[in-house]
Amino acid sequence: MVRKIAAIGVVIALAGILAVPAKAQEASKKEVPKAQMKAAMTEMGPVKEIACDPACGFVVRSRNEKELVSIAREHLKTVHHMKMSEKEMKEKVKAVDVK
Ligand SMILES: [Zn+2]
Repeated sequence: MVRKIAAIGVVIALAGILAVPAKAQEASKKEVPKAQMKAAMTEMGPVKEIACDPACGFVVRSRNEKELVSIAREHLKTVHHMKMSEKEMKEKVKAVDVK
């Protein structure tokens, strides 16, 4: 499943590369979410994961640690009404071996 997401990221990245030189302004208006573009651009690092309490079951994976931390913090805030600093969140980040 993660592999599929990565493949989508690559397609978006390629589409971006092809569209930008021709009409940069038009390309920026397309519906590709910024977060996905960012994820596609940071495609190179290892996949990282933050897992919430097993009782909750929430897991977020991304190669973009910033995105990972921000999504996980958002989850904590909205679902558990908890606050955690970025530093604390980063301690929860685990690298995942995706084949
Ligand atoms: Zn949770």
